[in-house]
Amino acid sequence: MSTLLSRAEELDADDPLAHTRKRFLLPDGVTYLDGNSLGPVPVGVPGAMDDAVRGQWGEGLVRSWPDWMRLPLELGDRIGRLLGAGAGNTVVGDSTSVQIFNALASAARLRPGRGVLLTDVDHFPTDQYLADSVGRLLGLTVRRVPAAEFSDHLRVSGGEVAVVACPAVDYRTGQLWDIAEVTAAAHRAGAVVVWDLCHAVGALPLELDAADVDLAVGCTYKYLNGGPGSPAFIYVNPRHQDRLDQPLTGWLGHAEPFSTTGTYRPAPGVARAVIGTPPVLSTVALQAALDVYEDVSMDAVRTKSLSLTGFFMGCVDELLAEWGFAVVTPRRGARRGSQVALRHPDAYGLVQALLRRRVIGDMRPPDLLRFGFNALYLTHREVYAAVRELHAAVAAGEQHDPGLARRSPFG
Ligand SMILES: *Cc1c(COP(=O)(O)O)cnc(C)c1O
Repeated sequence: MSTLLSRAEELDADDPLAHTRKRFLLPDGVTYLDGNSLGPVPVGVPGAMDDAVRGQWGEGLVRSWPDWMRLPLELGDRIGRLLGAGAGNTVVGDSTSVQIFNALASAARLRPGRGVLLTDVDHFPTDQYLADSVGRLLGLTVRRVPAAEFSDHLRVSGGEVAVVACPAVDYRTGQLWDIAEVTAAAHRAGAVVVWDLCHAVGALPLELDAADVDLAVGCTYKYLNGGPGSPAFIYVNPRHQDRLDQPLTGWLGHAEPFSTTGTYRPAPGVARAVIGTPPVLSTVALQAALDVYEDVSMDAVRTKSLSLTGFFMGCVDELLAEWGFAVVTPRRGARRGSQVALRHPDAYGLVQALLRRRVIGDMRPPDLLRFGFNALYLTHREVYAAVRELHAAVAAGEQHDPGLARRSPFG
């Protein structure tokens, strides 16, 4: 055990991102391994919210609209830097679910005459429900295939596929798919691909322009720490921007928002993806939250993230081997995102026992304990201590303690 602790201390002493932890307001004495569900508060956010309410709204009133209206494109470009996307390819606004609907339907309209929407059988629930709805609306058959089989499936029966919907990182297992490879396979089959980047953005470097990705969406309250309900983003390949025929034709995506003709005419470029009035207060919170990433190299984030997740799995191997845990997340760094899932029949009780020990992770039914690792504020020492707490909890049988409150899967 002490070897693991000294290894953790060595890794922390060498951590080029040690200085970014103080950019967050983290509660004392808590180890936060759930930033992949809701990131913590960046230090600049409370002040920015106060200014947004008292200053921009309170004093500025309606005069603040011109500044607020710039935010969807301005923040889109700032997130674009994390996506490997040039300026003018990304817009912020609305929820991830709304953006998924918009992206799937727009993608299908780029491939009229094709009848299949191919989606990962293990895709996040909202993505699946929306795929079914878009399928019904546009008369597409929704075909569910494991993402691991996408390339083969597209080679054999890709001719009918209009849209491929894929998560970059599986929300349960943490499996990372190869964006460039799947995108190329979709293109060879003549399909367009919609990536869901919820568990990838802010966690690892992305190269959407270079991979020629068609469309991508993601949320900003997980690794990007934008706060509960912060707006999502949509990326649109410049090739598609002026042809994008969105189902959600809001007035702020109109070429002339104050036009009175009653006829929709989309704005040029990615601006048409601004649908209606942005959620300004949460967009302002996101604006301040993104400062955290301003001078950070995503390669450094990735290196540390792999170190944290790799070290976590090493600690699990050493401390928990006899206690019935199985690591579900790929061991190979190139194939994992920034989270680790452990399978255990008592996942539910164990996550609650950990909460009582002030280690916050979460679980996904029926039997996965899920731990997210944000390289900007976690240390290897905390990772080690968290696995020690899990060991202490399971060794004491705390997962069977009837005193543990039943909690929702939100944590
Ligand atoms: C978190 C998450 C969402 C969330 O959608 P909301 O509309 O923000 O609730 C969607 N898709 C994936 C893959 C996610 O991980």
